[in-house]
Amino acid sequence: MLRALRIRPGPPARALLGHPWAFLGEIIVTGEQPEAGACVELMDPKGRSLGSGLWNPKSQIAWRRYSRRSVSLDGPLLEELITAALKRRGDRQVGRLVWSEADNLPGLVVDRYHDLLSVQALTFGMDARLDRIIEILQRLVNPREIVVRNDASSRKLEGLEQHIRTASGKALEPSWMEVGGVQYLVDLVAGQKTGMYLDQIDQHVKVATFAKGRRVLDTFCNQGGFALACAKAGAKSVLGIDSSEEAIVAARTAAERNGLSATFEVANVFDWFTEHREATFDLIILDPPPFARNKDAVEGALRGYKELNLRAMRLLAPGGILATYSCSHRVSEEMYLDLIEAAASDARREGLVLERTSQPADHPVMLNFPESRYLKGYILEIRA
Ligand code: SAH
Repeated sequence: MLRALRIRPGPPARALLGHPWAFLGEIIVTGEQPEAGACVELMDPKGRSLGSGLWNPKSQIAWRRYSRRSVSLDGPLLEELITAALKRRGDRQVGRLVWSEADNLPGLVVDRYHDLLSVQALTFGMDARLDRIIEILQRLVNPREIVVRNDASSRKLEGLEQHIRTASGKALEPSWMEVGGVQYLVDLVAGQKTGMYLDQIDQHVKVATFAKGRRVLDTFCNQGGFALACAKAGAKSVLGIDSSEEAIVAARTAAERNGLSATFEVANVFDWFTEHREATFDLIILDPPPFARNKDAVEGALRGYKELNLRAMRLLAPGGILATYSCSHRVSEEMYLDLIEAAASDARREGLVLERTSQPADHPVMLNFPESRYLKGYILEIRA
């Protein structure tokens, strides 16, 4: 049985404009409060359906749409949605199989690492259905193991505890696997994110096409995705920098395993730039973490991004390449290009946009869900 609730009249709730979320304060709750995790149909003030969603009154986001229809998630729909998400990804061996709202499965994230899967349940509703989800994934994908990475801090906002376990209950050691032509020792249980930053794999390969014969600096390198792809493509020298000691150890281990020559240093990138004003590079990658995690952080984030781009431009030889990314959804493509222009102006450098890059197809942007539109980048030639 689907409970139906109505949205309040008043300032237009984003759900009325197609957004897949509604906040508790926007909804008129009549009668008994539906239980957390229940399927709820939401109506507009005129009584027309906005679709069905997962309910959680403990969260600010009380309703998250999984269908435009009036339908429960507990019938065949759950498996249909997972099947559709898998089909959309084709036979990609390493990447995201299910991406939350973009796949109409709000709060469910599934990553594939060859024969291993990582599953995150980030909403109460998905957490409550996790056993069934694991059973479906086992049947449809038949992985060697499924790691439940329920350690994301956002689970606290849903009233959920944090833990990591495997579906079998057995321990899972890190294993070597090929990603974009390079072997990495991937740790699905304890690695950053679910083991790797999957959304930049395509960019590693793309940026490496510029690397031959160049002196490369990979900042915020994590396990060295850009650095190692560039080394493999014949870079003259490669230096990777990250503040995470574990990430740097992983990058060094991978360089050795692949027989690639690259140096990796543990450092804060901002400090490193301050200490190295005289260095010269021909290709610099800037791939920082999201600086603007909320609205109030945008201004500071823009300053941080601009500073990084300015510092990088100053270290580039004429004709050098700058591959620069932002994964903050609050910083738009246009805003990012504006600050790159401001940095070039301050650095008194001239540049060309060679490529505008976006998030990979396994992280699809969903219309009317700006939160899904997060990763943007520019590959620039910094001329004179
Ligand atoms: N370029 C990587 C992903 C980078 S994610 C890839 O393609 O796989 C962002 C990285 O920035 C993380 O590895 C994190 O450890 C690192 N980081 C965050 N703040 C930092 C800082 N101030 N200085 C250096 N590294 C930082």
